[in-house]
Amino acid sequence: MGDFNEARAWMVERQIVRRGVRDEYVIAAMRRVPREAFVPADLRDFAYDDTPLPIGGEQSISQPFIVARMLAAAELQPGNHVLDIGTGSGYAAAIAAEIAGRVDSIERDPSLAEDARERLQRLGYENVEVHVGDGTVGFAAHAPYDAIIAAAGGPHVPQALRAQLAPGGRLVMPVGSSLSHQRLVKIVRRGEHDYDEQALAEVRFVPLVGDDGWPQPGGAPPLN
Ligand code: SAH
Repeated sequence: MGDFNEARAWMVERQIVRRGVRDEYVIAAMRRVPREAFVPADLRDFAYDDTPLPIGGEQSISQPFIVARMLAAAELQPGNHVLDIGTGSGYAAAIAAEIAGRVDSIERDPSLAEDARERLQRLGYENVEVHVGDGTVGFAAHAPYDAIIAAAGGPHVPQALRAQLAPGGRLVMPVGSSLSHQRLVKIVRRGEHDYDEQALAEVRFVPLVGDDGWPQPGGAPPLN
């Protein structure tokens, strides 16, 4: 077993701080969350590499820098209520949970959701709830959200997600007309019908598959 604590400290310094992420909450959270616990056992030695890693079902845990970048853009504050779309391994949800008051995380794949739920519980994250469902419609039952982040890219920003932002709320998600290549977009809700929108970076995420996202490959019916 490698020294994960040292590898994590080094990852944060080299991949996050030196690349310009300044948000102290995000930096502190990345220093604490054990990414090695979120990757498959046979890939643990690569947990702090500067790359996404496969987690099964053609999905991946995002590159640490992109998680930091998205959460910094989402301007998380202590006490915030966060919606995380695309739980995957649960890593981004854990980083958000270190900072925010409460995190709702939605995953469309029931087996990834179950694994993430169990992992987050085992690691002691009591302020994260994992739901199985389609994140393109948000999670209206617990809205509004101070921040919404999505780790999968859709053709546009779903209207339901804009509507579920609290006043001053921030939404960060990849958007683009290609299945694999997107622009990271940030939206801030300034008023009831007033939203600021800005593009942050060119990114590559897995597709956001759902009612207000991309159609399911193969055309099988959605799971919820
Ligand atoms: N945040 C994750 C990254 C997971 S990759 C992590 O830190 O590990 C993106 C995830 O989005 C995949 O698990 C995929 O199944 C999921 N996904 C795709 N479309 C979705 C949708 N409409 N609703 C919820 N999850 C979705």
